[in-house]
This record gives sequence, structure tokens and C-alpha cells, in this order.
Amino acid sequence: MEDRGAKVLLDFGAGFADGSDYFDSTIMPRPVNGAGDLFEFGLLPEIPGLYSEKALQNTKMRYRAPEVDAVLLSHYHWDHTGRIGYVDPKIPVYCGETTSLIHDAYSESSSSPLDGHPIRKFRTGKKFSIGSMEVVPIHVDHSIPGAYGFVIHTSEGALAYTGDFRFHGPAGSMTRDFVEAASREKPRLLLTEGTRVRADDMKDNMSEKAVLNEALRLVRGTRVLVFSTFRGNDVDRINTFNEAAQASGRRLVVSMKMALLLERLKDDKKLKVPRVGRDVDVYVRRKKSGRLDDRDYYSWERQFLNGGVSASEVRRKQGKVFLHLEAWNFPELVDIRPERGGVYIHSATEAFNEEGEREETVIRNWIEHVGFSYAQLHASGHAPMDEVGELVKGVAATKVIPIHTEHPSMFKVFSKGGRWTLQPPKKGGSITFAS
Ligand SMILES: [Zn+2]
Repeated sequence: MEDRGAKVLLDFGAGFADGSDYFDSTIMPRPVNGAGDLFEFGLLPEIPGLYSEKALQNTKMRYRAPEVDAVLLSHYHWDHTGRIGYVDPKIPVYCGETTSLIHDAYSESSSSPLDGHPIRKFRTGKKFSIGSMEVVPIHVDHSIPGAYGFVIHTSEGALAYTGDFRFHGPAGSMTRDFVEAASREKPRLLLTEGTRVRADDMKDNMSEKAVLNEALRLVRGTRVLVFSTFRGNDVDRINTFNEAAQASGRRLVVSMKMALLLERLKDDKKLKVPRVGRDVDVYVRRKKSGRLDDRDYYSWERQFLNGGVSASEVRRKQGKVFLHLEAWNFPELVDIRPERGGVYIHSATEAFNEEGEREETVIRNWIEHVGFSYAQLHASGHAPMDEVGELVKGVAATKVIPIHTEHPSMFKVFSKGGRWTLQPPKKGGSITFAS
């Protein structure tokens, strides 16, 4: 976005499908070539004064001092943060306080695309200025805490950007706050996500509460182990499964990485997260020596060794455990050797492409191998199509620009009776306020 010489990026993520014609999990851009391998296929825009010297070192593009003033980050998901690692670290990133804590946790356990950037933190409703633009961040509900939309006042009028949102989550009222605040400003432009705006979005719109009830039914139906794959920073899901575990006399056992995130997020007074040790236990994988030897673990991991739960302990207490196990950690099942008859809960989006289907087949093979039942149980982070339509009507902008969607032209079904125009963006093109 540009206004009177001030320039900001609204998020800077890696598209999930973008680039999949050239790159996948085996063919990847070379780190030494910085942005060059992505420029080759038009997967990064060639914007002067945006990238770091390191990102440009083996490309045709010459480094220039920053000409972009800020990245406004709506939330900490890869499709919103994934390209910030190429941005000049002199350019500050504005994000919510919770997002900054999530960044701290990932930075400590591995790395974060925000590493090296000055972080400017905001809270909902607290305005700040970047040149001629006045930015108002407003919270929304999504499948990660600390998610925001923005209302941005420019010399040509206001723009509203939704970030990612839903109404059916535990904090759906926050998204309604955004719609209300945005509509008050009578924005000329609305940039909205539309992940589930598609003809084949047949999945029913399960709420987090429904996930809890179904999880309880499943957990109570077995006397042996329950384990589940779910996104480690979806705090709503962590709370849901913690509640299901406690209500059935079990303990939620989480990975070290999730434990570190919970430790950081406990400093967020507005967030409810289970406490490590008091509410949840930490799973300890064997490394190098095969013993629980301090020297085998990173310094951030060592704090969790004392009181940690090993594979043999999970086996011993299997009727009392609800284990969080990511797919890449499934080989741990070889050590755990759970009794047959347990329950596996796949708590993530169902496969939507070939690569995902292959992974699902592998997961199902493991579940069959250990003799467990397989359950799909998930509440989406995104609003279904009709609720995106409600948001569009509620904000009542003059012009709607659908982004974060594979079917931008489908937004025209919402325009019945409305007085707004639809303008799907073109790759590499620009859209002006006035036109
Ligand atoms: Zn998201």
C-alpha cells in the first residue's frame, strides 16, 4: 500500500499452492541464492528497496536502502509471514503483542521469519501512524491467537483489511467487533480473505465446542491410548483437548516445542493457556545416546527433561494419556508400542491436493498398523462462504478486493442488492483508490 510516499506491506507470506509447479518438499529454492530462485518464476515481486542485501546477493536486482516503511502483520501463520525472511531487517514489523510472544518462542526453539527485524507491538484499537497513514488494528477470531484485521486511513479515504477470520470459533465476537469498527469508517476499499469461498466447500462448519463434545465421546470410548495430530500453535485446540483429557481422567502430553510456546504465552494476561507441569506434561523423545542425557538436548529443551514423559511411561500410563503427536513424530509409536484399540484423532484440514492425500495414506497406514481407530475432527480457522458474504455486506465498502482465495470471481454472488463493485486483483498489477 502506498500513500503520499509512505509504503507498507499488508503481510508477506508464502502461498501454499504458489510455486508448487516448480518447487515441492524435495525441490526447494537454494538458501545461497536468496530471492533469486523465487524471482525466476515470479514467486516474489521485484520491489526495489524491500529486500535485504543477503536476499539479493546472487540476483540481478541491486540492493537499495529501504524504501518500504513497515510490514503490518495480521497473524503468525506461514502464509502471512513466510516471505518476511527476505525483507530488509531494517524494515520494522508491526504485530500484536501475542504474535510477538509466538515469534519469541519459535525464535528460541528454531527460527522465525521475523528474526532480526525491529518489532513494534500493538493492541486492539490502539492507533498508530506510518507517514500519512493512520492504522487501527482490530482483533479477529482465527485458529491462532493474536489475529488482527486493519482499518487504514489514507489521504484518499479508508481501507479495511480482514486478515484471516471466522465467526464460529470461541472468540467469534472479536470478528464481529472488526466488522462493526470497519463499517463505521465507511471504507472505500475492503480487502478480504476468502479461503472457503469455493463451490466445493462441503465440509460442515464444526465449531470448537462441537470438537470438544465429539473428542469427549471418542476419548471415553477407549481404555488405552488416545493420540492426536493438530497444529501446535492453535491454542483453542490445545484448550479443547486439554479439557477433553481432564474430563476423562487423562493428561494432555505435548511436544517440547509446544511446551515452550505455552511457557511464553502464559505472560499474555488476556489469553487462557494450560500451564506446563500443572495442567499438561511434556513428551521427551530419545536423541543421540538414546538415554535422557542433558548433553543430547538443546539448552531450551533441558528445562523440560525433569518431569518429562518418555515413550515407556506413555505405554505404562496409556489409559491416562492424551498425546499430541505430529505426523513426523509417528516413529515414536515404535517405542511406545500402544495396545490395540486406541483412538487417533486427525485434527487438521482434510487433504486438498495430491501431496496431502499421499500424507493421509501414510498416516492411515500407521494407524492401521497400531490397530487404532481413525477420527477426523476439526474446526476450521476460516469462515465458510456464506459468512464471508455476511462480512462483505456488513462492512459495506465501495469496492471489494478478494485476496487469499482461489476463486475471487465467486465473490460476485454476494453483490446482490449491494452497491459495491468487485475488483479481483491481477498479479503484478495495481489498484488505485480513486478509480
Ligand atoms: Zn491464518
